[in-house]
Amino acid sequence: MGKLFVHYVEADNVHCCACCGIHLTSHDDIVSKAFQGRHGRAYLFSNVVNVDTGPTENRLLLTGLHVVCDIYCNACDTRLGWKYMEAFEESQKYKEGKFILEKAMIVRESELRRREAEKEELERDSERGQAGIQGEEEEEEEEEEEEEEEEEEEDPDDEPDAHDDNGVATPLLRVTNSF
Ligand SMILES: [Zn+2]
Repeated sequence: MGKLFVHYVEADNVHCCACCGIHLTSHDDIVSKAFQGRHGRAYLFSNVVNVDTGPTENRLLLTGLHVVCDIYCNACDTRLGWKYMEAFEESQKYKEGKFILEKAMIVRESELRRREAEKEELERDSERGQAGIQGEEEEEEEEEEEEEEEEEEEDPDDEPDAHDDNGVATPLLRVTNSF
């Protein structure tokens, strides 16, 4: 395998791959939050790094026919969303060259750091043989206000999905009856 060249996003608020934590984009690159992916809400970004593109295909979305290609994390190969290569309707042209990242597939770097710190604390506790005994204040993750905007977009493609909520690929189980 070739050596992986990792780009780092220089920004205060970085979005990372939820599966492996590699940098993907910055919060400032969000064009719209009003998109719909296969796993629920999705964001449109003007720029994303550390992704590979799959083959281009025509996809009929709620807003018309588009040429898109799925995008995959360079490091862990999780499918993260798709890139708009071409839109045919004049009103949709602004999406060309931009990226959809599914919200379920990304995580903020600050949240990753918080989880790491939490894990380290748990490990320290278990080394002392008192895992999880002391009570801790629950930290509520601040959610940004998400107003419904103009358009919702849906992927009509109903193929079975091999990703679970963590974005980790799980094999589809096929059950056969034997007598
Ligand atoms: Zn990844």
